[in-house]
Amino acid sequence: MSVRPHPRDDATPPPGTGGGLEGPLVDRYGRVHDDLRISVTDRCNLRCVYCMPEDDLTFLPRAELLTFEEIARLGRVARALGVTSVRLTGGEPLVRRHLVDLVAQLAAVGFDDLSLTTNATLLAPLARPLAEAGLTRVNVSCDSLVPERFAAIRRRGDLATVLAAMDAAEAAGLVPLKVNVVVLRGQNDDEVLDFARFARETGRVVRFIEFMPLDAGGHWERDRLVPGTEVHATIDARWPLVGIDGHGAAPAERFAFADGRGEVGFISSVTQPFCGTCNRLRLTADGAIRNCLFSDDELSVRDVMRAGGSDEAVADVLRAAVGAKHPGHAINEPGFLAPRRSMSMIGG
Ligand code: SAM
Ligand code: SF4
Repeated sequence: MSVRPHPRDDATPPPGTGGGLEGPLVDRYGRVHDDLRISVTDRCNLRCVYCMPEDDLTFLPRAELLTFEEIARLGRVARALGVTSVRLTGGEPLVRRHLVDLVAQLAAVGFDDLSLTTNATLLAPLARPLAEAGLTRVNVSCDSLVPERFAAIRRRGDLATVLAAMDAAEAAGLVPLKVNVVVLRGQNDDEVLDFARFARETGRVVRFIEFMPLDAGGHWERDRLVPGTEVHATIDARWPLVGIDGHGAAPAERFAFADGRGEVGFISSVTQPFCGTCNRLRLTADGAIRNCLFSDDELSVRDVMRAGGSDEAVADVLRAAVGAKHPGHAINEPGFLAPRRSMSMIGG
């Protein structure tokens, strides 16, 4: 792994957190890491404008992907080190065949929360089997409530299928259902109130996400980003919002409607970074541990496993990744370079 010097990287190492399979995973800034995002594939059946180019994509060869057994093993080690929450993502996690089997293997590890982020195009028939295998919740990405807009932003798939999948997920008990909306200037920012109404009418938690410089096409521009504060102000003027206390390390700043009808959230990673309370680690589909979406620092846990490494050696990789974590990302600093891997390759 290459660890770049960081402009705000001035903390001294924390007191030893023990070796072997002892947790918790605490970094040099006292942040406890109990949340793991697992990318199960870099492939996807959609091509959202803010994530993937329409074509000219190269995907990982199958042999480079972690097997389900390797992922479950990493899960067990992470659990021993204090990880309590796991989210499966990608790429599109449901394009990986037999994902239900992986959910069952991870459920057996005993996490408090085992969830999935999906574009929901393949979710409806899988919702019940996933719930029965032990999945607790889903987050569904849906950037427009207008079919033509949805098609323009996501380039493939259709809105009706996604809305039907939300119903199927709730019927299967995968609740509370969260809906992720990436807000893009000039494309769907006029739908903010429609999404707020959707949250009020359905009880689903709509989370407005700032466009981040993680698109594979490299087309990110600050002008296309709609700040969370602006979205908040638009909604608050129509339906007053009150902050929900105790969101802890969750990235979404949570707000309830003052009249008690539902909840919305804001993931303002660019304009209001929440690095100070970041509690998460990421595992890429090819087995690299990343300690930040926006940093290229990676350590391969796959290489350790495939070289016959022990669980303790795997734990050492997790601890090293946490130990190397910077205090924050540098998106807003001069000279920031977008990470080499895009959102779909890292696992958002
Ligand atoms: N394919 C699944 C989906 O779309 O939900 C899971 C993976 S996707 C990378 C995870 C989340 O990242 C989605 O909610 C998506 O909207 C979001 N996302 C992707 N690229 C993004 C970007 N450049 N900025 C902000 N959010 C992004
Ligand atoms: Fe696929 Fe999700 Fe990226 Fe859209 S955001 S292209 S659905 S991985």
